Amino acid sequence: MRVTAAVLETAGGPFVPQEIDLAPPGPDEVLVRVHSVGVCGTDLEFSTFFPTPAVLGHEGAGVVEQVGSRVTTVAPGDHVAMSFTSCGTCPLCLTGSPAYCRRFDAVNFTGRRPDGTTALSRDGEEVNGHFLGQSSFASHVVAPARAVVPISRDIDLAHVGPFGCGFSTGAGGVLNVLRPRPGSSLVIFGAGAVGVAALLAATLSGCAVIAAVDVNPDKLATARTLGATHVVDSGRTDAAAALREIAPDGFDFAIDTTGREQVLRTAVEALGPLGHCGVIGIGPSPTMSFDWRSVLNGRTITGIIAGGAIPQVFLPKLLDLHAAGRFPVDPLLTHFPFDQINEAVAAVRAGTVGKAVLTLP
Ligand SMILES: [Zn+2]
Ligand SMILES: [Zn+2]
Repeated sequence: MRVTAAVLETAGGPFVPQEIDLAPPGPDEVLVRVHSVGVCGTDLEFSTFFPTPAVLGHEGAGVVEQVGSRVTTVAPGDHVAMSFTSCGTCPLCLTGSPAYCRRFDAVNFTGRRPDGTTALSRDGEEVNGHFLGQSSFASHVVAPARAVVPISRDIDLAHVGPFGCGFSTGAGGVLNVLRPRPGSSLVIFGAGAVGVAALLAATLSGCAVIAAVDVNPDKLATARTLGATHVVDSGRTDAAAALREIAPDGFDFAIDTTGREQVLRTAVEALGPLGHCGVIGIGPSPTMSFDWRSVLNGRTITGIIAGGAIPQVFLPKLLDLHAAGRFPVDPLLTHFPFDQINEAVAAVRAGTVGKAVLTLP
């Protein structure tokens, strides 16, 4: 079928909306018509080196139009969010950790299905896709059933897209992995969509001290309204010194959403003894470093993919909390029509929006 997709023609280049061809779903796949798709930092990071031509996008939500012959988990007409995929057969998938699937990169990041094929093409030329189980910068997606999460029809699909990655990454890092006890202290580096989702999860966990660190005063103001007890403008002040004043004995927990070496160092060194730092951001720095003495006192650093979540279990819970007004992410969302994808990307890069969401007719 002919679909509309925003094709990355060259690495680092713009996304070019156009009509391309999408093959029907295979036996274990689902055809989803996309209603909204968030723009995530991971899309921008991968757009600099992903093999082109390609369709990225991995925070899609929409309605199932067709299912493969072996699919039993969803049916046409079901509303769904989409998330990462996983092999389903490795020991880590079988023991409830699909975010750490042994074949995670092979099934999410090659631009192809595991068998080397792609459902996307253009005048006979193959187009890379299947990005994080979807490639949802498009009007339609062929996704593996494992990447698809059925959700209630009562939820406005325009708000759902970012739950598939950004919001579940931030919230899951806190609720599934760090698991702070009530009364804990937690500092979040980066007050973008992922950081704010972590912040809201910290409030749900009953953290007594929740500090947000960012260089953007507007994002810090939003963090303050959503439950941060302290904010630190690291563009104007020495963040390490400011955090020592807030928590003189060190924080119980830290979350880094930036992937920047200096920020990671500050995050680890802001911890108290036995403190736990979750590293969830994919950022520009290839390495992290810190004084080795700073981790001797029982500090833990844990890398976290996709909030450590089982999407089919975690996303519906997060959406229930959202519906109950207890996970109020709506102020973060700025909607753009799909054909303004490059304007949305520019706004994300400039930090002028909390979370850009593309909407399709
Ligand atoms: Zn696996
Ligand atoms: Zn993402």
